[in-house]
Amino acid sequence: MSRPTVLRVPPLSPQLHDAVGEQYDALDLPAEGRPAFLAEHGAEVVAIVCTNGGQVDAGVINALPNLRVIANHGVGYDNIDVPAALARGIAVSNTPGVLDDAVADTALALLLAVRRRVVVADLFVRAGEWQRGEFPLTTEVSRSRVGILGLGRIGRAIATRLEAFGCTVSYHSRHEVPGVPYAYAASAAELAASVDNLVAVVPGGASTAALVDREVLDALGPTGVLVNVARGSVVDQDALVAALVEGRLGGAGLDVFAAEPEVPAALADLDNVVLLPHVGSATHETRAAMRALTLDNLASWLDTGTLLTPIPEMSEMSERAGG
Ligand code: NDP
Repeated sequence: MSRPTVLRVPPLSPQLHDAVGEQYDALDLPAEGRPAFLAEHGAEVVAIVCTNGGQVDAGVINALPNLRVIANHGVGYDNIDVPAALARGIAVSNTPGVLDDAVADTALALLLAVRRRVVVADLFVRAGEWQRGEFPLTTEVSRSRVGILGLGRIGRAIATRLEAFGCTVSYHSRHEVPGVPYAYAASAAELAASVDNLVAVVPGGASTAALVDREVLDALGPTGVLVNVARGSVVDQDALVAALVEGRLGGAGLDVFAAEPEVPAALADLDNVVLLPHVGSATHETRAAMRALTLDNLASWLDTGTLLTPIPEMSEMSERAGG
């Protein structure tokens, strides 16, 4: 019996790449010569597996006349042209929930690393400078005021951790979250003005583009620290670099950037920033769980026509269709 053909959109981890190949007839979207490849093979493809580094734009979607499902390995899916997919009735899944702890841990690691100057202190020891004098004092995370931009699944996991540090947590999302013990701020700028540290963890895409702009950075100010574990697009990166270089912002811990893997050279010259290569969810445990959920979504859709974790826009669409 023939197996469904799944298009693997790079980059995928070797484990996910191989698992798809074991279960399905797999094709790999090439980096070069895509139009010719899609013209030759497009009609075979019924499913796509992708992750946030791989763009699934309208050009790809519309070159696949029999595409029925896109299974994204990641909770953020700003790499997919969702309106183009939904317009064709193509189902889209993501991997919510299974990565909350890893990303929250990463946010705390960045905040602690910037505030306690962990990376700079490590270099100080390695360079033998300890023999010449003491390391300068740093600033505590414990009992500080922390604003969370996006109190969703990961934002809540960050807030829980901060509670254990005795921090005062407040937040901004478009909607106030009922039943949480954290103060709500009506805007990102209002939130930034009232905290020592701001953690961005909203989705990427057009609605959050440059949500952290110069006004927000200036509200955070020369003693404030920004942590971004959301998407590079959420922060106006030029404004961020300028604020750091000019000393208008106290520091930054960044897991994500505007044009990954490019990182502005000016950031590498600053010792009040900590830079990570988009590793928020990159643990053995979490990546195994994300991989399993991606494959389970794909199998579920192909077997039964239902997804385990459809993206929210799919339920909104079926609610509208149902009146
Ligand atoms: P959720 O959907 O659970 O939470 C998102 C939160 O953002 C909600 O509180 C939502 O509230 C808020 N939000 C959405 N749009 C806006 C807006 N325009 N202005 C203000 N707030 C907004 O998502 P998760 O917590 O699961 O994930 C959040 C994001 O974290 C992902 O989309 C992804 O981009 C990023 N991420 C990064 C990783 C990394 O490796 N660094 C790994 C995993 C995720 P409301 O709707 O009320 O506005």
